[in-house]
Amino acid sequence: MIGTDRIGRVAMLSVHTSPLDPPGTGDAGGLNVYVVETARRLAARGAEVEIFTRATAGSLPAPVPMGPGVLVHHVSAGPYEGLAKDDLPGQLCAFAAGVMRTAAGRPEHWYDVVHSHYWLSGQVGWLAADRWNVPLVHTMHTMARVKNALLAAGDKAEPPGREIGEAQVVEAASVLVANTEEEAGDLVRLYDAEPEKVHVVPPGVDLTMFRPGDQAAARRAVGLPEDALVVLFVGRIQPLKAPDVLLLAISELVERDPALRDRLVVGVLGGPSGTGLEKPEALQELAAQLGLTDLVRFVPPVARRELADWYRAADLVTVPSYNESFGLVAVEALASGTPVVAAAVGGLPVAVGDGGVLVDGHDADRWADEIGGLLRDDDRRRALAEAGVRHAAGFGWDRTVDLLEEVYRQARAERSQGLDGMPQMPDNVLTLVSP
Ligand code: UDP
Repeated sequence: MIGTDRIGRVAMLSVHTSPLDPPGTGDAGGLNVYVVETARRLAARGAEVEIFTRATAGSLPAPVPMGPGVLVHHVSAGPYEGLAKDDLPGQLCAFAAGVMRTAAGRPEHWYDVVHSHYWLSGQVGWLAADRWNVPLVHTMHTMARVKNALLAAGDKAEPPGREIGEAQVVEAASVLVANTEEEAGDLVRLYDAEPEKVHVVPPGVDLTMFRPGDQAAARRAVGLPEDALVVLFVGRIQPLKAPDVLLLAISELVERDPALRDRLVVGVLGGPSGTGLEKPEALQELAAQLGLTDLVRFVPPVARRELADWYRAADLVTVPSYNESFGLVAVEALASGTPVVAAAVGGLPVAVGDGGVLVDGHDADRWADEIGGLLRDDDRRRALAEAGVRHAAGFGWDRTVDLLEEVYRQARAERSQGLDGMPQMPDNVLTLVSP
Protein backbone atom coordinates (compact mmCIF):
# COMPACT_ATOMS: atom_id res chain seq x y z
CA MET A 1 0.00 0.00 0.00
CA ILE A 2 1.29 3.45 -0.83
CA GLY A 3 1.83 5.51 2.30
CA THR A 4 0.20 8.71 1.00
CA ASP A 5 -3.48 9.57 0.58
CA ARG A 6 -3.17 8.73 -3.10
CA ILE A 7 -4.86 5.63 -4.47
CA GLY A 8 -1.97 3.79 -6.10
CA ARG A 9 -3.35 0.55 -7.46
CA VAL A 10 -6.89 -0.61 -8.07
CA ALA A 11 -7.89 -4.17 -8.93
CA MET A 12 -11.19 -4.02 -10.83
CA LEU A 13 -13.18 -7.18 -11.37
CA SER A 14 -15.56 -7.62 -14.27
CA VAL A 15 -16.02 -11.38 -14.50
CA HIS A 16 -18.86 -11.73 -16.97
CA THR A 17 -18.10 -9.06 -19.54
CA SER A 18 -14.90 -7.48 -20.77
CA PRO A 19 -14.25 -3.75 -20.91
CA LEU A 20 -12.74 -4.46 -24.33
CA ASP A 21 -16.10 -5.66 -25.70
CA PRO A 22 -18.10 -3.04 -27.63
CA PRO A 23 -21.32 -2.18 -25.74
CA GLY A 24 -24.84 -2.55 -27.09
CA THR A 25 -25.35 -6.31 -27.38
CA GLY A 26 -25.05 -9.54 -25.37
CA ASP A 27 -23.65 -8.89 -21.90
CA ALA A 28 -21.86 -5.68 -22.91
CA GLY A 29 -23.70 -2.52 -21.89
CA GLY A 30 -23.55 0.23 -19.33
CA LEU A 31 -21.32 -1.73 -16.94
CA ASN A 32 -18.62 -1.99 -19.61
CA VAL A 33 -18.85 1.73 -20.31
CA TYR A 34 -18.62 2.44 -16.56
CA VAL A 35 -15.52 0.27 -16.12
CA VAL A 36 -13.76 1.74 -19.17
CA GLU A 37 -14.51 5.36 -18.29
CA THR A 38 -13.62 5.11 -14.60
CA ALA A 39 -10.50 2.97 -15.15
CA ARG A 40 -9.11 5.37 -17.75
CA ARG A 41 -9.76 8.41 -15.60
CA LEU A 42 -8.33 6.85 -12.44
CA ALA A 43 -5.21 6.00 -14.47
CA ALA A 44 -5.00 9.55 -15.86
CA ARG A 45 -4.85 10.71 -12.23
CA GLY A 46 -1.87 8.45 -11.54
CA ALA A 47 -3.44 5.17 -10.38
CA GLU A 48 -2.49 1.84 -11.89
CA VAL A 49 -5.67 -0.06 -12.73
CA GLU A 50 -5.76 -3.79 -13.41
CA ILE A 51 -9.03 -5.23 -14.67
CA PHE A 52 -9.70 -8.96 -14.39
CA THR A 53 -12.21 -10.46 -16.80
CA ARG A 54 -12.98 -13.98 -18.01
CA ALA A 55 -11.13 -15.09 -21.14
CA THR A 56 -13.57 -15.77 -23.98
CA ALA A 57 -10.98 -16.62 -26.66
CA GLY A 58 -7.74 -18.58 -26.57
CA SER A 59 -6.00 -16.05 -28.78
CA LEU A 60 -6.20 -13.20 -26.26
CA PRO A 61 -2.79 -12.06 -25.12
CA ALA A 62 -2.49 -11.54 -21.39
CA PRO A 63 -2.46 -8.90 -20.17
CA VAL A 64 -3.81 -6.38 -22.70
CA PRO A 65 -3.14 -2.66 -22.18
CA MET A 66 -6.34 -0.58 -22.38
CA GLY A 67 -4.65 2.80 -22.59
CA PRO A 68 -1.98 4.27 -20.30
CA GLY A 69 -2.07 2.84 -16.77
CA VAL A 70 -4.82 0.28 -17.42
CA LEU A 71 -4.20 -3.45 -17.95
CA VAL A 72 -6.82 -6.08 -18.72
CA HIS A 73 -6.04 -9.59 -17.46
CA HIS A 74 -7.90 -12.42 -19.19
CA VAL A 75 -8.48 -15.15 -16.65
CA SER A 76 -9.13 -18.69 -17.87
CA ALA A 77 -12.25 -20.03 -16.18
CA GLY A 78 -14.29 -22.52 -18.16
CA PRO A 79 -14.54 -22.89 -21.94
CA TYR A 80 -13.97 -19.79 -24.07
CA GLU A 81 -17.25 -20.12 -25.88
CA GLY A 82 -20.71 -21.45 -25.16
CA LEU A 83 -21.04 -20.29 -21.54
CA ALA A 84 -23.97 -18.04 -20.76
CA LYS A 85 -23.94 -15.60 -17.85
CA ASP A 86 -26.21 -18.02 -15.96
CA ASP A 87 -23.47 -20.69 -16.17
CA LEU A 88 -20.82 -18.47 -14.61
CA PRO A 89 -21.51 -19.11 -10.91
CA GLY A 90 -19.98 -22.56 -11.54
CA GLN A 91 -16.77 -20.94 -12.78
CA LEU A 92 -16.17 -18.49 -9.95
CA CYS A 93 -13.75 -20.76 -8.10
CA ALA A 94 -11.64 -21.16 -11.25
CA PHE A 95 -11.81 -17.41 -11.84
CA ALA A 96 -10.78 -16.62 -8.27
CA ALA A 97 -7.87 -19.07 -8.56
CA GLY A 98 -6.75 -17.30 -11.75
CA VAL A 99 -6.89 -13.88 -10.06
CA MET A 100 -4.90 -15.21 -7.09
CA ARG A 101 -2.32 -16.75 -9.42
CA THR A 102 -1.86 -13.48 -11.32
CA ALA A 103 -1.52 -11.52 -8.10
CA ALA A 104 0.87 -14.06 -6.58
CA GLY A 105 3.56 -12.53 -8.77
CA ARG A 106 3.00 -9.18 -7.04
CA PRO A 107 4.58 -8.13 -3.74
CA GLU A 108 2.34 -8.12 -0.63
CA HIS A 109 0.10 -5.05 -0.37
CA TRP A 110 0.29 -4.36 -4.09
CA TYR A 111 -3.34 -3.25 -4.45
CA ASP A 112 -5.00 -0.51 -2.40
CA VAL A 113 -8.55 -1.50 -3.16
CA VAL A 114 -10.64 -4.08 -4.98
CA HIS A 115 -13.60 -2.70 -6.93
CA SER A 116 -15.97 -5.40 -8.15
CA HIS A 117 -18.74 -4.86 -10.69
CA TYR A 118 -21.93 -7.01 -10.64
CA TRP A 119 -22.53 -9.74 -8.10
CA LEU A 120 -20.45 -12.42 -9.87
CA SER A 121 -17.39 -10.21 -9.53
CA GLY A 122 -18.37 -9.41 -5.95
CA GLN A 123 -18.10 -13.09 -5.06
CA VAL A 124 -14.50 -13.13 -6.29
CA GLY A 125 -13.74 -9.67 -4.90
CA TRP A 126 -14.81 -10.89 -1.47
CA LEU A 127 -12.02 -13.49 -1.48
CA ALA A 128 -9.44 -11.24 -3.14
CA ALA A 129 -9.99 -8.35 -0.72
CA ASP A 130 -9.79 -10.74 2.24
CA ARG A 131 -6.58 -12.32 0.98
CA TRP A 132 -4.93 -8.99 0.16
CA ASN A 133 -6.26 -7.32 3.30
CA VAL A 134 -7.73 -4.37 1.39
CA PRO A 135 -11.27 -2.97 1.22
CA LEU A 136 -13.83 -4.40 -1.15
CA VAL A 137 -15.78 -1.67 -2.94
CA HIS A 138 -18.71 -3.16 -4.81
CA THR A 139 -21.12 -1.80 -7.43
CA MET A 140 -24.21 -3.93 -8.13
CA HIS A 141 -25.26 -2.38 -11.49
CA THR A 142 -28.45 -4.47 -11.30
CA MET A 143 -30.08 -6.41 -8.48
CA ALA A 144 -32.17 -9.56 -8.78
CA ARG A 145 -34.71 -8.49 -6.17
CA VAL A 146 -35.34 -5.19 -7.95
CA LYS A 147 -35.43 -6.81 -11.37
CA ASN A 148 -37.80 -9.58 -10.28
CA ALA A 149 -40.23 -7.08 -8.81
CA LEU A 150 -40.50 -5.26 -12.16
CA LEU A 151 -40.38 -8.02 -14.78
CA ALA A 152 -41.89 -7.58 -18.23
CA ALA A 153 -44.91 -9.88 -18.79
CA GLY A 154 -43.60 -13.39 -19.53
CA ASP A 155 -39.94 -12.54 -18.83
CA LYS A 156 -37.87 -15.01 -16.81
CA ALA A 157 -37.17 -14.21 -13.15
CA GLU A 158 -33.61 -14.15 -11.80
CA PRO A 159 -32.86 -17.33 -9.80
CA PRO A 160 -32.72 -17.48 -5.98
CA GLY A 161 -28.99 -18.36 -6.18
CA ARG A 162 -28.30 -14.89 -7.53
CA GLU A 163 -30.28 -13.23 -4.75
CA ILE A 164 -28.35 -15.22 -2.15
CA GLY A 165 -25.02 -14.42 -3.84
CA GLU A 166 -25.89 -10.73 -3.94
CA ALA A 167 -26.84 -10.73 -0.25
CA GLN A 168 -23.47 -12.31 0.59
CA VAL A 169 -21.61 -9.63 -1.36
CA VAL A 170 -23.63 -6.90 0.36
CA GLU A 171 -22.49 -8.29 3.69
CA ALA A 172 -18.86 -8.84 2.67
CA ALA A 173 -18.25 -5.47 0.98
CA SER A 174 -16.60 -2.65 2.88
CA VAL A 175 -18.44 -0.13 0.73
CA LEU A 176 -21.39 -0.41 -1.66
CA VAL A 177 -21.51 2.12 -4.44
CA ALA A 178 -25.06 2.95 -5.56
CA ASN A 179 -25.88 4.95 -8.68
CA THR A 180 -28.74 6.87 -7.08
CA GLU A 181 -30.42 7.43 -3.70
CA GLU A 182 -33.17 5.10 -4.91
CA GLU A 183 -30.67 2.30 -5.47
CA ALA A 184 -29.08 3.03 -2.08
CA GLY A 185 -32.54 2.63 -0.55
CA ASP A 186 -33.07 -0.68 -2.40
CA LEU A 187 -29.77 -2.00 -1.01
CA VAL A 188 -30.89 -1.21 2.52
CA ARG A 189 -34.52 -2.26 2.13
CA LEU A 190 -34.13 -5.38 0.00
CA TYR A 191 -30.66 -6.59 0.99
CA ASP A 192 -30.30 -5.37 4.57
CA ALA A 193 -27.23 -3.31 3.72
CA GLU A 194 -25.92 -1.21 6.59
CA PRO A 195 -26.86 2.34 5.52
CA GLU A 196 -23.45 3.77 6.43
CA LYS A 197 -21.79 1.33 4.04
CA VAL A 198 -23.73 2.66 1.05
CA HIS A 199 -22.32 5.63 -0.90
CA VAL A 200 -24.14 7.27 -3.79
CA VAL A 201 -21.88 7.96 -6.77
CA PRO A 202 -23.79 8.93 -9.92
CA PRO A 203 -22.36 7.51 -13.14
CA GLY A 204 -21.47 9.76 -15.98
CA VAL A 205 -21.38 10.66 -19.61
CA ASP A 206 -18.43 11.50 -21.84
CA LEU A 207 -19.18 15.20 -22.35
CA THR A 208 -16.62 15.61 -25.11
CA MET A 209 -18.05 12.75 -27.17
CA PHE A 210 -21.73 13.45 -26.47
CA ARG A 211 -22.42 17.13 -27.12
CA PRO A 212 -25.00 19.06 -29.10
CA GLY A 213 -24.31 19.66 -32.78
CA ASP A 214 -25.85 20.32 -36.16
CA GLN A 215 -28.83 17.98 -36.58
CA ALA A 216 -28.80 18.14 -40.39
CA ALA A 217 -25.10 17.20 -40.52
CA ALA A 218 -25.72 14.34 -38.07
CA ARG A 219 -28.57 13.07 -40.25
CA ARG A 220 -26.35 13.10 -43.31
CA ALA A 221 -23.67 11.25 -41.34
CA VAL A 222 -26.01 8.40 -40.33
CA GLY A 223 -28.03 8.35 -43.57
CA LEU A 224 -31.35 9.80 -42.35
CA PRO A 225 -33.55 12.18 -44.37
CA GLU A 226 -33.19 15.79 -43.19
CA ASP A 227 -36.94 16.42 -42.92
CA ALA A 228 -37.80 13.23 -41.00
CA LEU A 229 -39.21 13.00 -37.47
CA VAL A 230 -36.73 10.69 -35.79
CA VAL A 231 -37.41 8.66 -32.64
CA LEU A 232 -34.71 6.39 -31.22
CA PHE A 233 -34.31 3.39 -28.98
CA VAL A 234 -30.70 2.66 -28.01
CA GLY A 235 -29.71 -0.36 -25.96
CA ARG A 236 -29.51 -4.10 -25.62
CA ILE A 237 -32.60 -5.70 -27.10
CA GLN A 238 -34.32 -7.64 -24.33
CA PRO A 239 -37.77 -7.61 -22.67
CA LEU A 240 -36.44 -5.63 -19.67
CA LYS A 241 -35.66 -2.69 -21.97
CA ALA A 242 -39.17 -2.76 -23.48
CA PRO A 243 -38.40 -1.76 -27.09
CA ASP A 244 -41.75 -3.42 -27.92
CA VAL A 245 -43.52 -0.67 -25.96
CA LEU A 246 -42.00 1.90 -28.32
CA LEU A 247 -43.14 -0.04 -31.40
CA LEU A 248 -46.67 -0.44 -29.99
CA ALA A 249 -46.79 3.30 -29.23
CA ILE A 250 -45.59 4.15 -32.75
CA SER A 251 -48.25 1.87 -34.21
CA GLU A 252 -50.87 3.71 -32.16
CA LEU A 253 -49.51 7.08 -33.29
CA VAL A 254 -49.66 6.30 -37.00
CA GLU A 255 -53.13 4.88 -36.59
CA ARG A 256 -54.23 8.17 -35.00
CA ASP A 257 -52.45 10.27 -37.59
CA PRO A 258 -51.68 8.35 -40.81
CA ALA A 259 -49.91 11.40 -42.30
CA LEU A 260 -47.09 10.81 -39.81
CA ARG A 261 -46.06 7.75 -41.81
CA ASP A 262 -44.50 9.96 -44.47
CA ARG A 263 -42.03 11.54 -42.07
CA LEU A 264 -41.53 9.20 -39.12
CA VAL A 265 -38.34 7.13 -38.77
CA VAL A 266 -37.82 4.91 -35.73
CA GLY A 267 -34.22 3.86 -35.15
CA VAL A 268 -33.58 0.79 -32.97
CA LEU A 269 -29.86 0.59 -32.21
CA GLY A 270 -28.42 -2.44 -30.45
CA GLY A 271 -28.33 -6.22 -30.52
CA PRO A 272 -30.06 -9.05 -28.69
CA SER A 273 -29.17 -9.72 -25.08
CA GLY A 274 -30.26 -11.65 -22.00
CA THR A 275 -33.64 -13.31 -22.37
CA GLY A 276 -33.95 -11.44 -25.69
CA LEU A 277 -31.48 -13.98 -27.13
CA GLU A 278 -34.14 -16.68 -26.91
CA LYS A 279 -36.05 -14.97 -29.74
CA PRO A 280 -33.53 -12.66 -31.41
CA GLU A 281 -35.93 -11.74 -34.25
CA ALA A 282 -38.95 -11.07 -32.02
CA LEU A 283 -38.78 -7.28 -32.39
CA GLN A 284 -38.44 -7.42 -36.17
CA GLU A 285 -41.43 -9.78 -36.21
CA LEU A 286 -43.45 -7.40 -34.06
CA ALA A 287 -42.60 -4.50 -36.39
CA ALA A 288 -43.81 -6.60 -39.33
CA GLN A 289 -47.02 -7.62 -37.50
CA LEU A 290 -47.75 -3.97 -36.72
CA GLY A 291 -47.10 -2.99 -40.35
CA LEU A 292 -44.16 -0.79 -39.35
CA THR A 293 -41.35 -2.43 -41.31
CA ASP A 294 -41.02 0.62 -43.57
CA LEU A 295 -40.71 2.99 -40.58
CA VAL A 296 -38.33 1.10 -38.33
CA ARG A 297 -34.59 0.88 -38.97
CA PHE A 298 -32.86 -1.87 -37.05
CA VAL A 299 -29.21 -0.93 -36.69
CA PRO A 300 -26.63 -3.29 -35.18
CA PRO A 301 -24.70 -1.87 -32.19
CA VAL A 302 -22.82 1.27 -33.15
CA ALA A 303 -19.55 2.63 -31.78
CA ARG A 304 -19.53 5.69 -29.53
CA ARG A 305 -18.65 8.33 -32.15
CA GLU A 306 -21.37 7.18 -34.54
CA LEU A 307 -23.80 6.85 -31.65
CA ALA A 308 -23.27 10.53 -30.81
CA ASP A 309 -24.37 11.36 -34.39
CA TRP A 310 -27.48 9.18 -33.99
CA TYR A 311 -28.43 11.00 -30.78
CA ARG A 312 -27.89 14.41 -32.45
CA ALA A 313 -29.89 13.25 -35.48
CA ALA A 314 -32.90 12.27 -33.34
CA ASP A 315 -35.83 14.43 -32.29
CA LEU A 316 -36.53 12.19 -29.32
CA VAL A 317 -34.80 9.31 -27.55
CA THR A 318 -37.05 6.88 -25.69
CA VAL A 319 -36.07 4.72 -22.71
CA PRO A 320 -39.15 2.58 -21.94
CA SER A 321 -37.34 0.06 -19.67
CA TYR A 322 -39.08 -1.81 -16.86
CA ASN A 323 -36.05 -1.00 -14.75
CA GLU A 324 -32.71 0.82 -15.03
CA SER A 325 -30.33 1.27 -12.14
CA PHE A 326 -29.39 4.55 -13.87
CA GLY A 327 -29.79 4.59 -17.67
CA LEU A 328 -26.66 5.90 -19.38
CA VAL A 329 -28.51 6.18 -22.69
CA ALA A 330 -30.81 8.85 -21.24
CA VAL A 331 -28.00 11.10 -20.08
CA GLU A 332 -25.97 10.54 -23.28
CA ALA A 333 -28.99 11.65 -25.35
CA LEU A 334 -29.48 14.77 -23.21
CA ALA A 335 -25.79 15.65 -23.45
CA SER A 336 -26.14 15.39 -27.24
CA GLY A 337 -28.99 17.92 -27.18
CA THR A 338 -31.93 15.53 -27.60
CA PRO A 339 -34.85 15.28 -25.16
CA VAL A 340 -35.82 11.95 -23.66
CA VAL A 341 -39.11 10.17 -22.99
CA ALA A 342 -38.40 7.62 -20.26
CA ALA A 343 -40.23 5.26 -17.94
CA ALA A 344 -40.50 6.65 -14.41
CA VAL A 345 -38.53 3.76 -12.89
CA GLY A 346 -35.25 3.17 -11.06
CA GLY A 347 -32.56 5.73 -11.78
CA LEU A 348 -34.26 7.22 -14.84
CA PRO A 349 -35.88 10.19 -13.03
CA VAL A 350 -32.37 11.19 -11.89
CA ALA A 351 -30.79 10.57 -15.29
CA VAL A 352 -33.51 12.52 -17.14
CA GLY A 353 -34.01 15.43 -14.70
CA ASP A 354 -35.74 18.30 -16.47
CA GLY A 355 -34.49 17.24 -19.92
CA GLY A 356 -37.43 15.06 -20.77
CA VAL A 357 -40.74 13.51 -19.87
CA LEU A 358 -41.29 10.61 -17.50
CA VAL A 359 -44.09 8.14 -18.21
CA ASP A 360 -45.76 6.03 -15.53
CA GLY A 361 -46.25 2.44 -16.63
CA HIS A 362 -45.93 0.87 -20.07
CA ASP A 363 -49.31 1.39 -21.61
CA ALA A 364 -48.77 2.01 -25.34
CA ASP A 365 -51.51 4.68 -25.47
CA ARG A 366 -49.79 6.73 -22.76
CA TRP A 367 -46.47 6.41 -24.56
CA ALA A 368 -48.11 7.41 -27.84
CA ASP A 369 -49.62 10.50 -26.13
CA GLU A 370 -46.23 11.65 -24.81
CA ILE A 371 -44.20 10.86 -27.94
CA GLY A 372 -46.87 12.33 -30.25
CA GLY A 373 -47.28 15.44 -28.08
CA LEU A 374 -43.57 16.15 -28.14
CA LEU A 375 -43.14 15.45 -31.86
CA ARG A 376 -45.83 18.04 -32.60
CA ASP A 377 -44.34 20.68 -30.30
CA ASP A 378 -40.99 22.01 -31.58
CA ASP A 379 -40.79 24.74 -28.90
CA ARG A 380 -41.26 22.31 -26.06
CA ARG A 381 -38.66 19.94 -27.49
CA ARG A 382 -36.23 22.85 -27.83
CA ALA A 383 -36.82 23.94 -24.23
CA LEU A 384 -36.36 20.38 -22.94
CA ALA A 385 -33.20 19.98 -25.03
CA GLU A 386 -31.68 23.13 -23.52
CA ALA A 387 -32.55 22.01 -20.00
CA GLY A 388 -31.23 18.54 -20.81
CA VAL A 389 -27.83 19.79 -21.93
CA ARG A 390 -27.50 21.72 -18.65
CA HIS A 391 -28.65 18.70 -16.65
CA ALA A 392 -26.23 16.31 -18.38
CA ALA A 393 -23.34 18.72 -17.79
CA GLY A 394 -23.59 17.75 -14.10
CA PHE A 395 -22.82 14.11 -14.91
CA GLY A 396 -19.30 14.14 -16.36
CA TRP A 397 -17.27 10.99 -15.60
CA ASP A 398 -14.68 13.19 -13.87
CA ARG A 399 -17.19 13.90 -11.14
CA THR A 400 -17.90 10.16 -10.83
CA VAL A 401 -14.19 9.50 -10.43
CA ASP A 402 -13.76 12.36 -7.90
CA LEU A 403 -16.39 10.65 -5.76
CA LEU A 404 -15.03 7.15 -6.35
CA GLU A 405 -11.53 8.22 -5.29
CA GLU A 406 -13.02 9.66 -2.12
CA VAL A 407 -14.88 6.39 -1.48
CA TYR A 408 -11.67 4.38 -2.04
CA ARG A 409 -9.68 6.64 0.32
CA GLN A 410 -12.31 6.47 3.03
CA ALA A 411 -12.64 2.68 2.69
CA ARG A 412 -8.87 2.28 2.94
CA ALA A 413 -8.64 4.56 5.97
CA GLU A 414 -11.50 2.75 7.73
CA ARG A 415 -9.95 -0.61 7.00
CA SER A 416 -6.56 0.39 8.30
CA GLN A 417 -8.29 1.58 11.48
CA GLY A 418 -10.23 -1.70 11.65
CA LEU A 419 -13.58 0.05 11.29
CA ASP A 420 -14.99 -1.72 8.29
CA GLY A 421 -16.12 -4.81 10.13
CA MET A 422 -13.56 -7.13 8.49
CA PRO A 423 -11.19 -9.02 10.79
CA GLN A 424 -7.77 -7.36 10.61
CA MET A 425 -4.90 -9.71 10.00
CA PRO A 426 -1.55 -8.29 11.10
CA ASP A 427 1.32 -8.77 8.63
CA ASN A 428 3.26 -11.06 10.95
CA VAL A 429 0.30 -13.44 11.21
CA LEU A 430 0.20 -13.69 7.44
CA THR A 431 3.91 -14.47 7.50
CA LEU A 432 3.49 -17.11 10.20
CA VAL A 433 0.77 -18.99 8.39
CA SER A 434 2.44 -18.74 4.99
CA PRO A 435 4.32 -21.88 4.00
N1 UDP B 1 -24.48 1.44 -26.47
C1 UDP B 1 -23.55 1.60 -27.49
N2 UDP B 1 -23.92 1.27 -28.76
C2 UDP B 1 -25.14 0.78 -29.07
C3 UDP B 1 -26.09 0.63 -28.02
C4 UDP B 1 -25.74 0.98 -26.74
O1 UDP B 1 -22.42 2.06 -27.25
O2 UDP B 1 -25.42 0.51 -30.24
C5 UDP B 1 -24.11 1.86 -25.10
C6 UDP B 1 -24.84 3.13 -24.67
O3 UDP B 1 -24.23 4.25 -25.25
C7 UDP B 1 -24.72 3.07 -23.16
C8 UDP B 1 -24.68 1.58 -22.88
O4 UDP B 1 -24.48 0.91 -24.13
O5 UDP B 1 -23.54 3.70 -22.73
C9 UDP B 1 -25.96 1.10 -22.26
O6 UDP B 1 -26.02 1.56 -20.94
P1 UDP B 1 -27.38 1.73 -20.16
O7 UDP B 1 -27.06 2.22 -18.79
O8 UDP B 1 -28.33 2.57 -20.93
O9 UDP B 1 -28.01 0.26 -20.10
P2 UDP B 1 -27.36 -1.14 -19.59
O10 UDP B 1 -26.65 -1.74 -20.75
O11 UDP B 1 -26.45 -0.81 -18.46
O12 UDP B 1 -28.52 -1.96 -19.19
